[in-house]
Amino acid sequence: MVALPVSGKKANDRGGRPSPFKLLIANRLSAAGLLLLGIIVALALLTPILPLPDPDITDPAQRLLRPGVDGHLLGTDHLGRDLLSRLLWGTRVSIVVGVSATLIAAIVGSLIGLTAGYAGGRSDNVLMRGIDLVMAFPYILLALGIVAVLGPGLLNALYAISIVNIPFFARNIRGMTLGLSRREFVDAARLSGASHPVILFGDVLPNVLPTIVVTMSTTVGWMILETAGLSFLGLGAQPPQADLGSMLGEGRKLLFTAPHVSVIPGVMIFVLVMSINLVGDGIRDVLDPRLKSGALAAPGAATTVKREAVPEKPATDAVLSVTDLRTQFQTGSRVYKAVGGVDLDLAPGERVGLVGESGSGKSVTALSLLRLVPTPPGTITAGRVVIGGEDQLAASVDKLRRLRGGKVAYVFQDPLTTLHPLFTVGQQIVEAVQAHQPLSRREAEAQAIELLERVQIPSAKARYNAYPHELSGGMRQRVCIAMALANDPELIIADEPTTALDVTVQAQVLKLMRGLSEQQGSAVLFITHDFGVVSELCDRVAVMYAGRIVEIGPTEAVLDAPAHPYTRKLIDCVPVLGEPDRRLDAIEGLPPPVDRLPTGCAFAERCPIVEPRCREGDIALDPLSDDRSVRCIKPYRMAS
Ligand code: ADP
Ligand code: MG
Repeated sequence: MVALPVSGKKANDRGGRPSPFKLLIANRLSAAGLLLLGIIVALALLTPILPLPDPDITDPAQRLLRPGVDGHLLGTDHLGRDLLSRLLWGTRVSIVVGVSATLIAAIVGSLIGLTAGYAGGRSDNVLMRGIDLVMAFPYILLALGIVAVLGPGLLNALYAISIVNIPFFARNIRGMTLGLSRREFVDAARLSGASHPVILFGDVLPNVLPTIVVTMSTTVGWMILETAGLSFLGLGAQPPQADLGSMLGEGRKLLFTAPHVSVIPGVMIFVLVMSINLVGDGIRDVLDPRLKSGALAAPGAATTVKREAVPEKPATDAVLSVTDLRTQFQTGSRVYKAVGGVDLDLAPGERVGLVGESGSGKSVTALSLLRLVPTPPGTITAGRVVIGGEDQLAASVDKLRRLRGGKVAYVFQDPLTTLHPLFTVGQQIVEAVQAHQPLSRREAEAQAIELLERVQIPSAKARYNAYPHELSGGMRQRVCIAMALANDPELIIADEPTTALDVTVQAQVLKLMRGLSEQQGSAVLFITHDFGVVSELCDRVAVMYAGRIVEIGPTEAVLDAPAHPYTRKLIDCVPVLGEPDRRLDAIEGLPPPVDRLPTGCAFAERCPIVEPRCREGDIALDPLSDDRSVRCIKPYRMAS
């Protein structure tokens, strides 16, 4: 085996994603903000060693000099003090006060929020009512009030600003903690006997830390502004000490005679706060993984299609004809080829199973058919999907929308997440009906009840008014199937619809789907990882591995004599009732990551009969007989 260069591999393992700093710099506004802020902070840090006159020494002879006169770069103020020196010392004070106030507010506020959210009950009530009390007063009035009580002074201004900002953090963090402390990983920590502080600081805090940091970075500018406000009113820094707000206040009276005295600190406040806010925005974007992956960016109405050539294929009477479909995800510099060239035809009324391990690209294939893969990060890079005689990869969004839920219906795995929790199941079916048929409310309702009966929901009329949470899992999935049937689909795409159900309910749902498909003549593309399910429902089966179909054929023939080693392994994973002696096999190893697919057969790494030539080049899906094909250079023969 060849030793891999460790450092090179490590750098690669970040997912090809740039470092957080690079991401921050890539945002041009944040980069500009960071540059400005860097200069200001560097100047503020260097102030004590710069050759500057004492900021507090007055010199009446040198009053109100214009910038650049007599060696005073920025001029002097009404007492003849050097403005550059005062500006730098003042900026130092403003930054220190603003940052300290932010830190105090963040620490105290987060502690209150964590405690209230985690403890719940009475502690939560008491703490939050205290916070509400602070929030009940107008913000700046409260700060003024606090300073009035404590007396003017920079330190008191700092306390006042911190106190009025505590609710901001406390409310935010409490909400998050409340949600987190009921999550399974916190339960797990509790079950393992961890103490409350350990759970709170070990499990909950790391999850809210990014929010705290983001809130801090976006409020520090605001706090500097508030400190300046108090100083401007004479309640913060006391003469002769300079901070940006007091400088602005002193210059106010001279706005017309010597504008530079107030304009200079004003510009500094503006630049400082703006650069901090730009950097804060950048930090927020970098720290929030959802923003980073583009998941919060609204996905388009249809997956982007970027294909170079459209494969040609003679028209057939198939309800669905897929040719060389390829879908990939791009994150950073990595390209995940989730679907790498799928060919599949479904005849009218035919039920085809799409089988494969988790991550083999089944769901992405199903979603690509009607361009439902979110863009970004998904793109369809090649292929043709013909439904109703038209290539849907070239269709308009309007046409796609008419197909979705109409001629082509989807049923997903988890009915609790696909049904809306706040509407009754009846309303939701009515909505599905009315989206595609011009029916009156009453007619649609009658049809909804009829649909509920058709999926064998007992006392359908009464269930019409039930909310999803009032139904059992099997019942909910029946509702989803009813919604799929609402507009007499030609094709039903079911993505693991029985995986979340227990075995008896699963059998009922499968029987129902089989019956409905026979009754209505709808074709079904049934996605599952379970060969047992396929054998009960499907006429044909397509086995998927690492984004491609590796074997396809009539269900019975494939089950009797699997030709691809992967198919055989998958079948060996299914227990058979009444055959306790049968060897149950797990497949060793894992599928290859789809961003680094090997040359040749993707299954080679795990294949029991692998040969060197398996890894040499692309392996085609070759016909084995007139209705079977396999992607293997030495498939198991049917006799074996
Ligand atoms: P399954 O066969 O279990 O339904 P999927 O079709 O959901 O598998 O996923 C196929 C592959 O696509 C997986 O390897 C997964 O990592 C990748 N994938 C899915 N969605 C994304 C995404 N948004 N970004 C990157 N990769 C993705
Ligand atoms: Mg899936």
